[in-house]
Amino acid sequence: MAHELPPLPYAYNALEPHLDEQTMRIHHDKHHAAYVNNLNAALEKHPELQGKGLDDLLKDLGRVPEDIRTAVRNNGGQHYNHSMYWQVMAPNAGGAPSGPIADAIRAAFGSFEAFKDQFSKAAVGRFGSGWGWLVKDGGKLAIEATSNEGCPLMEGKVPLLVVDVWEHAYYLKYQNRRADYVGAWWNLVNWAEVNRRFK
Ligand code: MN
Repeated sequence: MAHELPPLPYAYNALEPHLDEQTMRIHHDKHHAAYVNNLNAALEKHPELQGKGLDDLLKDLGRVPEDIRTAVRNNGGQHYNHSMYWQVMAPNAGGAPSGPIADAIRAAFGSFEAFKDQFSKAAVGRFGSGWGWLVKDGGKLAIEATSNEGCPLMEGKVPLLVVDVWEHAYYLKYQNRRADYVGAWWNLVNWAEVNRRFK
């Protein structure tokens, strides 16, 4: 069974003014769609892998045949990361978290503000293309920034929150001002989804 591009869980213009409609259309319909198509094209060479879920492929890339491993890593990683990025955003969201994730963030980073500051620095400071993450690593929360297609699942960690810092995620509206984009993105964080992943 082929991997599929999930529809956005809201309208293309639902995240305005923080993320503009044109960026969302191109990002989802062109960039994300291409990763899904390229992942499926790679897997056509190994039909025995076509029944495997995306998580399983990424958690155990060493078992993916070498001739398609880079293609699966690149396109599968990007498919996973984008699917999650759409879900951890929502209209009328953002603000401070509540529930179990709020307590865990306070315990790990001292305060929500300290966490936000550290996460923003990691995401904004990622050199080149990549992603900013909150992950569960063993029992504890950690912030990291991966490059290109890197995904914490590949390192045995549980991804809880992600922001895309590839230029295609923000360039139309924010040009080179990645910090402004990340600052605005906090208004979109879907903490209910982060809590669901944390449980
Ligand atoms: Mn992207």
